[in-house]
Amino acid sequence: MLTPGDGPAVAGGHPGRVEVHDLTWRPYGRREPVLRGIDLVVPAGQRVLLVGPSGSGKSTLLRALAGVLEVADSGERSGSVDLDGAEPGARAGAVGLVLQEPGAGVVSATIGRDVAFGLENTGMPRAAMPARVAVALAAVHLTMPQDTPTHALSGGEQQRLALAGALALEPSLLLLDEPTAMLDPDNAASVRDVVADVTASRHLTTVVVEHRLGPWVDFADRLVVLDDGGRVVADGDPRQVLAERSESLAAQGIWVPG
Ligand code: ADP
Ligand code: MG
Repeated sequence: MLTPGDGPAVAGGHPGRVEVHDLTWRPYGRREPVLRGIDLVVPAGQRVLLVGPSGSGKSTLLRALAGVLEVADSGERSGSVDLDGAEPGARAGAVGLVLQEPGAGVVSATIGRDVAFGLENTGMPRAAMPARVAVALAAVHLTMPQDTPTHALSGGEQQRLALAGALALEPSLLLLDEPTAMLDPDNAASVRDVVADVTASRHLTTVVVEHRLGPWVDFADRLVVLDDGGRVVADGDPRQVLAERSESLAAQGIWVPG
């Protein structure tokens, strides 16, 4: 059960350790791989900020971590991706994914039904859903009534709704693909703050992709940089990686903190 402010939640004994070894992916019809020889071991509870120029394969890597690469695209894969010893996506709800466009994941007319919708394929008993929905909405500070229309939400609130939908699944891995890129600074900060709170209280393994690094540097335990060939070119302490690479990151259109 998710409770805001709870200690480490290791839902069903799935701590959220990610192991990617020598992952290469080439979509059919493309000469060059999008991901090349990615090695990435993320200990349970670690918070990773993933950056790289546009087209470097960040979203593709997130799809691989979500276990939907072969669902979303067809191509040739080598190497392995493993979440707590299994293919990610093998367990319903193991991975929560939030995308860039506010509203992209909104499927229902009201906020309560929207979060409940995601629970419908998890095998969860219907009677257990309202409590789970209420806790997830509270965790992202959406305190309005559950019958509030989804279209009445601001962009930042829609992103927090998407996060509530992901959290309701009690995932062992949370993936955020530029969750604040379309938001104004205040809404972006509100989403960042909520992400920081819920991932800390749940000790939730998190990979977030962002272009504006400033608000996320202190959130992250680790900064991983992809180059435009889909390779990991830097991986380490965020401040240290930034100090070493701020010029090349800025040249790639990534907004480094001043
Ligand atoms: P990023 O998120 O870093 O901007 P993406 O992962 O979206 O990059 O895409 C990386 C590259 O792979 C881009 O050039 C994109 O056009 C290409 N790509 C991604 N998926 C496919 C696919 N299914 N078929 C062909 N090209 C793809
Ligand atoms: Mg992308």
